[in-house]
Amino acid sequence: MLSLETSQTTAESKLAQKNRILLIEDEDLIRDMIVVALEEEGYEVSTSDNGRTALSLLQSPDFNRTSVAPDLIILDLMLPEVNGLDICRLLRHQGDITPILVVSAKSSETDRVLGLEVGADDYLTKPFSMRELIARCRALLRRQKYSSSSSNSVQRYRDISLFSEECRVMVRGTDVNLSPKEFRLLELFMSYPRRVWSREQLIEQVWGLDFMGDTKTVDVHIRWLREKLEQEPSQPEYLITVRGFGYRFG
Ligand code: CA
Repeated sequence: MLSLETSQTTAESKLAQKNRILLIEDEDLIRDMIVVALEEEGYEVSTSDNGRTALSLLQSPDFNRTSVAPDLIILDLMLPEVNGLDICRLLRHQGDITPILVVSAKSSETDRVLGLEVGADDYLTKPFSMRELIARCRALLRRQKYSSSSSNSVQRYRDISLFSEECRVMVRGTDVNLSPKEFRLLELFMSYPRRVWSREQLIEQVWGLDFMGDTKTVDVHIRWLREKLEQEPSQPEYLITVRGFGYRFG
């Protein structure tokens, strides 16, 4: 198990050499620390310390046509001139789907939700360890790689494979029967590994805004899904409860 982990990490660091990360952070000390950590992992890093400069760089057509466009953006929220939330919102509004990892000292649930709602893919609260940062970056880049190469819309995570077009799910080599809502829920989770979803967000995505029931419905469906997916439903490895917030996958 340990050796498998190590070889996977080595393979991934080799892959990582091709990945470019744009870091938008105005605090010199934090920026330097992140740059060092990312470069050690083989990533190519460019930086910006100002919201407006970063945004105009990202929006310039020349920048996006060249090979220097980032594969991932690490974004601080409190920035001079244009804040991180606005950058995120604007990029998404313009159809830019570059994965965005928000790193912020703001740690309240509202900030976290807001970050994800304006289109950030993941959220890390300062202070964080560089190991955690690297792990999140890897996960986001891996997800991007899979989503851009999955023409037959198969999503795989460890023992679970989900075939979107066939509405079919295999767990440890065996087909499992999911209800349409369970399927949709799992599909959503697998499309955004590690992203934390509130019950309200899950209701909105899976049941729709006109849903009349309450958020307990989510808990019930999660329990059913766990019984079908997890080897040990009381100690889930896939559908993880994030205390005080909601659920995440993986
Ligand atoms: Ca800042």
